[in-house]
Amino acid sequence: MLTNDAALVLFSGGQDSTTCLAWALERFARVETIGFDYGQRHAIELTVRPRLLQQLRSVKPEWGARLGEDHTIDLGLISQLSQTAMTEDIEIVMQENGLPNTFVPGRNLLFMTVAATLAYRRGLNVLVGGMCETDFSGYPDCRDDTMKALQVALNLGMDTRSRLETPLMWLDKAQTWALAQQLGGTQLVDVIRADTHTCYKGERGTLHDWGYGCGTCPACDLRARGYRLFQATLTGNRQVSAD
Ligand code: ZN
Repeated sequence: MLTNDAALVLFSGGQDSTTCLAWALERFARVETIGFDYGQRHAIELTVRPRLLQQLRSVKPEWGARLGEDHTIDLGLISQLSQTAMTEDIEIVMQENGLPNTFVPGRNLLFMTVAATLAYRRGLNVLVGGMCETDFSGYPDCRDDTMKALQVALNLGMDTRSRLETPLMWLDKAQTWALAQQLGGTQLVDVIRADTHTCYKGERGTLHDWGYGCGTCPACDLRARGYRLFQATLTGNRQVSAD
């Protein structure tokens, strides 16, 4: 399965990007990570990253050997450009255009473009992101077509032959938990439960079975429902194999 490709993973410190990182560590000989500081309301995501990287190294020794440098890039210009519930202290609501106001226009396009620029310098030919169109809020910059078009645009604009990989694109949240189980067993699932951060409100008071979070924001709700479905599937499989 291991290829000589070298990858740069967009790593925010959440469940999805951590699963993507494990996916990349299983496949590519050399893996680096990039995170963005863009004036998120709760920069807690960024603070969980170093511990998470440390934990991932201990899941499998070969992952530790493949995992290279971590880069944090200041993209504060995003909060200068847009006013959204991700960057301002305003209520999360649905907008008239059918998108929640957590949508930061152009964010993923900018992230991928900045990642491609860094990858160019570092000699990394695969970009990995946790974009998913299955059960998220319909963010248009998470669409498969958006990412495919961006891959073409970046390669034309930089005269490269890089690949843009999105392993979670067609998975729902329960399947994302199952992918983690498949990649790194219970140890990885436990790392993701306890050490990743997804909650929009930045809550890390109580450790629920699905991880830390307020339990009520859209991100927590999705994560918790996915985890319960994943657990139910595991229990179902155990029952089937026992019968
Ligand atoms: Zn929450």
